[in-house]
Amino acid sequence: MKRMFALLCTILLLPVFWGHAKAVSKQAAITLSRAEGGLSYSFSLPGTEFACLQYKNGDEQGMLTLRSSDGRFEGVLPLSYTQTARQVTVTVLSIGQKQLLRQTADWVPSGAPETGKQEKDAVRKVTDLELIPGEKEMGYRFTAPGHPAVVLSFSSVMQKGAFVITVDEAGVFAGTLSLPNTYARDLITLRVRDLRGRELAEKAERTLFVPPDAGETAAAGPLSGVVVCLDPGHQQADVRTSKVPVMPGSDLRVFTDNGGMAQGAVTLRKESIAALEISYRACAALREAGALVFMTRWNEETGVSNLGRADYAHEVGAGYFIRVHLNMAEKKTANAIDVYCPDKSPYARLALDKATYRLLARALADALSAQTGVKTARTHFSDQFIGNNWARMPAFLVETGYMSSPANDVLLSHPVYQDRVARGIAEGVIAMEEVLKGAPAQE
Ligand SMILES: [Zn+2]
Repeated sequence: MKRMFALLCTILLLPVFWGHAKAVSKQAAITLSRAEGGLSYSFSLPGTEFACLQYKNGDEQGMLTLRSSDGRFEGVLPLSYTQTARQVTVTVLSIGQKQLLRQTADWVPSGAPETGKQEKDAVRKVTDLELIPGEKEMGYRFTAPGHPAVVLSFSSVMQKGAFVITVDEAGVFAGTLSLPNTYARDLITLRVRDLRGRELAEKAERTLFVPPDAGETAAAGPLSGVVVCLDPGHQQADVRTSKVPVMPGSDLRVFTDNGGMAQGAVTLRKESIAALEISYRACAALREAGALVFMTRWNEETGVSNLGRADYAHEVGAGYFIRVHLNMAEKKTANAIDVYCPDKSPYARLALDKATYRLLARALADALSAQTGVKTARTHFSDQFIGNNWARMPAFLVETGYMSSPANDVLLSHPVYQDRVARGIAEGVIAMEEVLKGAPAQE
């Protein structure tokens, strides 16, 4: 059945404060209008590069991180699953999750499926629900004898929705959920209910990780002949743990697993997947500069102990062992990059004298600071990291930011920002090479 639809935009002017609360914008509003595939939005936040957007109506909701090079933000919210007239609320937040703009609009879908009649006492459970993961999508397939239509609801951190679907001619419910807001490896939970709300099935599956391009080693570049082993911290798979000396020759034995991951305050993403994405991008940036690059893992399913990571770097003949991690802290505004080097390990002393180690760590931290704009970039000597202590080459564990800080979290999962961190690592290795060759390090 075709329906007439109308879209009424209520203009809600909110005073917006940014900078040091001196500028109050009088045109701070979001323009919302119907578009192909959903609701288009447009707003302007001068001087803002990244912003978060949330949308919500009774049927579906979501959030996403937006980037603009000129302070104008435009796009389409995918309201694909709303089947009844609903008011949509759109909120724009700073990356630190402070509300900047808010706007509501009436939303009437262009059509809803005929649901047909349902058998009175059909509460037969769905037993064959199958989920087929994709990148930013999730396929589903099941049968539900006695139900001409069911309610399918899906939920993940970044996108939620519920809608009615009808059975096809073969008696099968099948389709693909489009989930443009989700990240790689986001957990999507699907629930099937009958039209009276009784649960028929529930199943969860993660979206696919489709890796960023790892690049190819350039024929010539500032890092030609340099071998780098990148170590994306942690992984999703379990690693069988055993106790090993904390460093060569030590009586102190500790577990060599790599649990204790950070998790995103907003995205709820695990440190392992963000570290993996950043490492792929760092691999591409290093290869572009001519380096030969190895990685201790290329996916979430490979489990490597911290000791195993250091051994692998030695096996491949790495000149640099760079370990990519994301940090966590109690303070929600923590914002810093930290570079950790081994301190008292005899292997560390064989690799480099401490003064040179310090110069290299400083060069790496400065390059990361320059590329990301993060002002605080610290260097540390520490005995706490087994993977550093057992490394037989210069080893640097880089905490690239704080996933526990909302603003850091959303940036560290954004491809543009991930590229900046990656570029910082590559520029850092170039600067470290210059230190080792005796050339002055770049300021
Ligand atoms: Zn970590």
